[in-house]
Amino acid sequence: MSETRTNLFDLDRTAMEAFFVAIGEKPFRAKQVLQWIHQRGVTDFDAMTDLAKSLRARLKELATVDLPEVAIDQRSRDGTRKWLLQMDGVENAVECVLIPEDKRMTLCISSQVGCTLNCSFCSTAKQGFNRNLSTAEIIGQLYLAHHALLADGRDGGITNVVMMGMGEPLLNYEAVMRALNIMCDDFAYGLSKRRVTISTAGVVPAIRRLHEDTDVSLAVSLHAPTDELRNELVPLNRKYPIAELLDACRDYVQEHNRRRITFEYVMLKGVNDSLDHARQLVKLLRGIPSKLNLIPFNPYPHALYECSDPATIDRFRDHVVSKGIVTVTRKTRGDDIDAACGQLVGRVKDRSRRSQKHQISIQNLTGTIHHATR
Ligand code: SAH
Repeated sequence: MSETRTNLFDLDRTAMEAFFVAIGEKPFRAKQVLQWIHQRGVTDFDAMTDLAKSLRARLKELATVDLPEVAIDQRSRDGTRKWLLQMDGVENAVECVLIPEDKRMTLCISSQVGCTLNCSFCSTAKQGFNRNLSTAEIIGQLYLAHHALLADGRDGGITNVVMMGMGEPLLNYEAVMRALNIMCDDFAYGLSKRRVTISTAGVVPAIRRLHEDTDVSLAVSLHAPTDELRNELVPLNRKYPIAELLDACRDYVQEHNRRRITFEYVMLKGVNDSLDHARQLVKLLRGIPSKLNLIPFNPYPHALYECSDPATIDRFRDHVVSKGIVTVTRKTRGDDIDAACGQLVGRVKDRSRRSQKHQISIQNLTGTIHHATR
């Protein structure tokens, strides 16, 4: 029965070695199977020709290789490509977005269906929270995109991953960590840790834990230079105020020698985009090796904010740059397929979805995502 079988997409190398040992096999089977699945894109046990026939038969009894289902696959004129993936039925659909750049193929992936954090400018917040994604569902996004690229003749496949889709990755810690292990495993995707970025709204204890467990790149959604304003934009700030968050960031960089933290800052017209805000931000970031990403706000229906004018964004950028902070204003991509915003958006029929049971329909789900493009 499938419920009792192990989905091999849930297992990183350590977990897969334990799985093989538990069924009386040698641990090195894990490397073989990881390569079959993640590198060669083979999910049929019978095709795994370097496994004994008897083992293949046992795997069929004990294991599955279940992937999210592709509900929509859209390509933008600028090369951006968006997949809507159905996890277990229409209610649990998330998107992932591919952003091709000169030398990089970046994939933006989701960690949760919905989000609990309720940032005031974010449309994922409007959907409420449905559930955490499993490791299989997180790594499944990379698997599908990577093998779609290979099938298109793009030899390198995905080169960079940003966890900037739907959800707060540090509130789904275990599943995300296992997925990161698979991303960075030479027997799977072999991505260097510098090419994998976790973006967080600032879950301080998890940032502290993260620096003990891994050294992937860290992006922090700061968005405001004072607690008063940040409490409003990112309510999580009431629990972990800016000073605590930046302390954790300092420790994260110290631990990983000279690695910079990326601070994300969404540009909201008349809210956080003045020269004063820029000055306060410069003070705040003093002494932290950092890079600043200015994100033009991506509007959506019923949003409470507008995007700052380009001239205001430039003025803000010029000030922080003049104080020595490396700054990039993100370009929006994939506008024609709704793939150009800061996060994944389920356009929800029923705005009271938090209390009722989730009524997303695939036709109604348009996603937008925002990306680290330059
Ligand atoms: N929860 C994580 C990751 C998901 S959001 C985090 O908060 O970092 C990825 C980035 O997109 C965050 O910086 C988020 O604040 C930003 N974002 C959310 N909604 C946006 C919007 N409408 N326009 C521009 N950026 C947005």
